[in-house]
Amino acid sequence: MAQRFDPYELAARRLSEERGTLYEEGPEAIALLYPSPYPTGMSSLGFQTIYRLVHSRPGRVAHRAFLPDDVEAHRQSRVPLFTYEARRPIGDYPVIGISVAYELEIAGIIQSLELAGIPIFAEERNERHPFVLAGGPLTFSNPLPLAPYVDAILMGEAEDTLHPVLDRIFAAGSRREALELLAREIPSAFIPSIHGVHMPPVAKSDDASLPAHSQIITADTELRDMFLVEPERGCHRGCMYCVMRRSTNDGMRKFEMERVLSLIPEHATRVGLVGAATTDHPQISDIVEAIVDRGCEVGLSSLRADRLNDRFMAALRRGGQTVLTTASDGASHRLREMIQRKNDESVLFRAAELTRRHGFKRMKLYMMVGLPTETDDDIDELIDFCHRVSKIVPTSLGIAPFVAKRNTPLDGADFAGIREVERRLERLRKGVRGKVEIRSTSARWAWVEYVLAQGGEPEGRAVYEAVKNGGSYRAYKDAFDALPDDRPRRPIVRPGNRLGRAGALPLVDR
Ligand code: SF4
Repeated sequence: MAQRFDPYELAARRLSEERGTLYEEGPEAIALLYPSPYPTGMSSLGFQTIYRLVHSRPGRVAHRAFLPDDVEAHRQSRVPLFTYEARRPIGDYPVIGISVAYELEIAGIIQSLELAGIPIFAEERNERHPFVLAGGPLTFSNPLPLAPYVDAILMGEAEDTLHPVLDRIFAAGSRREALELLAREIPSAFIPSIHGVHMPPVAKSDDASLPAHSQIITADTELRDMFLVEPERGCHRGCMYCVMRRSTNDGMRKFEMERVLSLIPEHATRVGLVGAATTDHPQISDIVEAIVDRGCEVGLSSLRADRLNDRFMAALRRGGQTVLTTASDGASHRLREMIQRKNDESVLFRAAELTRRHGFKRMKLYMMVGLPTETDDDIDELIDFCHRVSKIVPTSLGIAPFVAKRNTPLDGADFAGIREVERRLERLRKGVRGKVEIRSTSARWAWVEYVLAQGGEPEGRAVYEAVKNGGSYRAYKDAFDALPDDRPRRPIVRPGNRLGRAGALPLVDR
């Protein structure tokens, strides 16, 4: 007979492999939920930061919970979703804090609430149920589809706002009072039941509260045993599709090398430098060299091709990197100019030369397909580029279909279409066969992400229908198709953000 899955056993094994776990108890305990499985949640620097931040206030503690790796097996175990540290059902906590990275995690919120026995929709919950507070990267673009499931959404950076928000929730005599207090006193708190669709601007934390860094190191994450630290936050560049571009929270904020290094614990053996534009930090080579000199491996998110040089590449190799990962994003020079990615082909060839010269095995380039105005000519230019670059160094492409996000100049651009994206990918695959390896994310799921990224509450509610009907692409399509055609495109009001639509940009025909 097959052995029954025991969720407690898995949690205990994972806890035994962690360093830095906070096992405190306190009168003000919150369940910190990540709506994706443990290995993804524990690779999130934001989730780890909030975990430590909650504990920084005496008497206040956070216990973690995650969407189970196998939701069906967990359901069959009949164990209510529980926190790892306390083995306590998340439904027993007065507050559940949820960190949401992107649109497709809304399904994970629904599944987690259901496994916890908590009514899914905010309007169905009463004083016996936890207050559900969401935040995270999704709040920088469009958290409206989350609105049906949560009581409040904390917009933007939470380092300085989390405790003031929790102060009010714990002090309030009722959920309604808490919501009114937050709406009145916390400028970055979005209360859908009070604000409707009018979201406040994102918060910006004081630099004194940064840089963010890991609390727990564990082998069981996507970034195995890696201590994460953020040498800079934000970006001073202006890529048209990017939520973290220069207009968001005043662009890039750099932190002193000494401060960054001082946060790395003695026992760390692998260090990940995380940020929107880490290679734009003026001391990045010094930082990488100093970490390698301590005997640590080092990894970086977001290497910018135009920032690579011999010294930096040598330091990365000494730090154990074997694949050089960078992004080009637009298939052709014309598209890169249009999206203001501004990577001349010569920069990419130079990156390939450096990759070979320093003994990396491979260069991996991130790319988007389906950008507005893209044609077969752009794809053919990419094919030609692949042929030439693969003569310099083995190259692979990681391709994502373009999804327009709100709060960017490309907001409102159409999705190129599932069939069209698949056709262009096929053209590309055929054109580079035997030369360059291609991995792409699904055009179908990119479309689902697009509908949610551009949608509001109705699209958010449709996720519940999709999850109820199995959560397949087909279930999402049916749920979105069932929405009324005349539903309004919801306005987004962000008085604090200097943005604007790409009025002059030629968008694809509707
Ligand atoms: S895509 Fe990267 S380089 Fe461009 S604005 Fe965003 S974070 Fe900066």
